Amino acid sequence: MAYLSTDKVEHHFHDVVIIGSGGAGMRCALQLANAGHRVAVVTKVVPTRSHTVAAQGGINAALGNVVSDHWKWHMYDTVKGSDYLGDQDAIEYMCRAAPLVVKELEHFGLPFTRQDDGRIYQRAFGGQMREFGEGGLAKRACAVADRTGHAILHTMYQQNLKAGTHFYEEFFALDLITDEDGCQGVMAWDIAKGEYHLFQAKAVILATGGAGRIFNVTTNAHICTGDGGALTLAAGLPMEDMEFFQFHPTGIANVGPLITEGVRGEGGYLLNSEGERFMERYAPTAKDLASRDVVSRAIALEVREGRGCGPNKDYALLKLDHLGADFILAKLPNIHELAMRFSGVDCTKEPIPVQPTAHYTMGGIPSNRFGEVVYRKDGNPETPYPGLYAIGEAACTSVHGANRLGCNSLLEIIVFGRACGNQVMRRLKEHRYHPSIDEDCWKKGLSRVETWLDKATKREGLGIADIRSQMQHIMQEHFSVYRTEEVMREGVERLEALADELANAKISDDHRIFNTELIEAMELENLMALARSTAAGALARTETRGAHARDDFPERDDKTWLKHTLASIQDGKVVLDYKPVRMQPMTVESFPPKKRVY
Ligand SMILES: Cc1cc2nc3c(=O)[nH]c(=O)nc-3n(C[C@H](O)[C@H](O)[C@H](O)COP(=O)(O)OP(=O)(O)OC[C@H]3O[C@@H](n4cnc5c(N)ncnc54)[C@H](O)[C@@H]3O)c2cc1C
Repeated sequence: MAYLSTDKVEHHFHDVVIIGSGGAGMRCALQLANAGHRVAVVTKVVPTRSHTVAAQGGINAALGNVVSDHWKWHMYDTVKGSDYLGDQDAIEYMCRAAPLVVKELEHFGLPFTRQDDGRIYQRAFGGQMREFGEGGLAKRACAVADRTGHAILHTMYQQNLKAGTHFYEEFFALDLITDEDGCQGVMAWDIAKGEYHLFQAKAVILATGGAGRIFNVTTNAHICTGDGGALTLAAGLPMEDMEFFQFHPTGIANVGPLITEGVRGEGGYLLNSEGERFMERYAPTAKDLASRDVVSRAIALEVREGRGCGPNKDYALLKLDHLGADFILAKLPNIHELAMRFSGVDCTKEPIPVQPTAHYTMGGIPSNRFGEVVYRKDGNPETPYPGLYAIGEAACTSVHGANRLGCNSLLEIIVFGRACGNQVMRRLKEHRYHPSIDEDCWKKGLSRVETWLDKATKREGLGIADIRSQMQHIMQEHFSVYRTEEVMREGVERLEALADELANAKISDDHRIFNTELIEAMELENLMALARSTAAGALARTETRGAHARDDFPERDDKTWLKHTLASIQDGKVVLDYKPVRMQPMTVESFPPKKRVY
């Protein structure tokens, strides 16, 4: 066993290292720790501050507690919602597993809201119907009031403490350790102490969450900077379908915090400046509960045609006061508080100003339904990369395709967190010992930090807050709800120029202990890599599909574009490749593409 050629780095050995303590990372850790494996969870924040904590509306499962339901209807809705870009084997797996994993959560102690008969409370969410779209709205979202993610994250944390998972809190992952045999570990920086750690493991799992912070107005926490994807790109592997970025229709206008779709699921609806329920025109059947891409585009069109509300006519109104104050305070207490705090509106009395807001990263690290990271080898783009796994929002298992349905993400993190744990156990049986690693493998991770600290004392250049703000504005202005060739081409040019500036940027703080500016600088490097992949993929895709809506190509083009984008960074340039959609489910017949109406 080779040890490192330095004493600057503390060297740890675990069976498995998981980067990220959101719902995905913790569900996976639990599966492995309960089976007796030595699991490390490395997380840049205190575990219960991961973005999963902010999830409001619920987690989908066809339990049929309120109205009849079936996992096949759930699967159909998910395939249709994905605008047929979702991989149908993974979607089948997720929807079939949903009732099981939700009951498992219940047994872990998750305090679901209950119906009068004691069963789990379920509400309606967008794009979800019964009987393959023929039987009216489904009620599939299992909820804990409007704080479902909070309950999931805390339950997972408690269970992991009990199972003996090792947590490395406020450690920032810097670099993946890879060689010709695959991924062997990760280099990390202890933010509080300013020290280096190398985690050597037989399997590395990326569960680092989304990248919503590439946009200026977003529901995502400041920590959602797509770090796992950037580590993957830096290891020479691609990112999948990054051009599909979900805009949630109801972020609080001008500031971004989310007003859950659950509000519309409970009977709330949208109004324009003329007091009209405009969704009836865009989606005659599902109305306000059409899928998110449809509702976001409808709001954008109302605003564009002069029917926006407010002094700048730039938002819609979400009315829910007719539900009654008692109901709102019992079932949507968090919404009441958010609306009050961020827009000064008491939603039991007046409507909330809302706008489409960047919300969810459909794309991510290419992975299959076992959580294995896949890449192109000898022509096969589905080859597992040894020792590396990706789950949750960081991954593109492609259950969401071009557009995610509400409440399928909390489901995804639990289903694939668990499935990945099981798959890793198979690997651990075959790989009983840690292989040798290159004794200098720590150097790249270390130089990432040292270069920034060095710049803090020597270089002149733009500050990172300035560059981040420019990047977020470019993404917001050039890659928003509606996209065109001309606008995106200019965006790509501006972004590429800005990426060059980043190489010369500076920070002003050269301390090692809790240097938040240093962390933000590395997060900005990560964001920039993902923004560039997003922009390049979007410009190339000449069709409208799901969240990727083009004015100049308003139709979906299955002949040319029923395929996944793979963007990698080679010699500093974004390079695009494509791979087929997995249209064949596991046991049922495929749902072939058809026109998508709600
Ligand atoms: C406001 C909001 C509401 C939502 N509501 C719903 C809902 O009702 N239903 C639903 O299904 N979905 C919802 N979603 C989406 C869903 O919550 C997320 O997709 C999901 O929780 C992501 O979980 P995750 O485990 O993949 O990542 P996260 O919970 O984002 O966790 C990421 C983890 O990675 C760690 N990490 C990242 N980078 C590094 C690094 N460099 N080094 C070390 N650690 C790192 C972080 O510390 C964190 O622990 C919502 C999302 C938002 C933003």
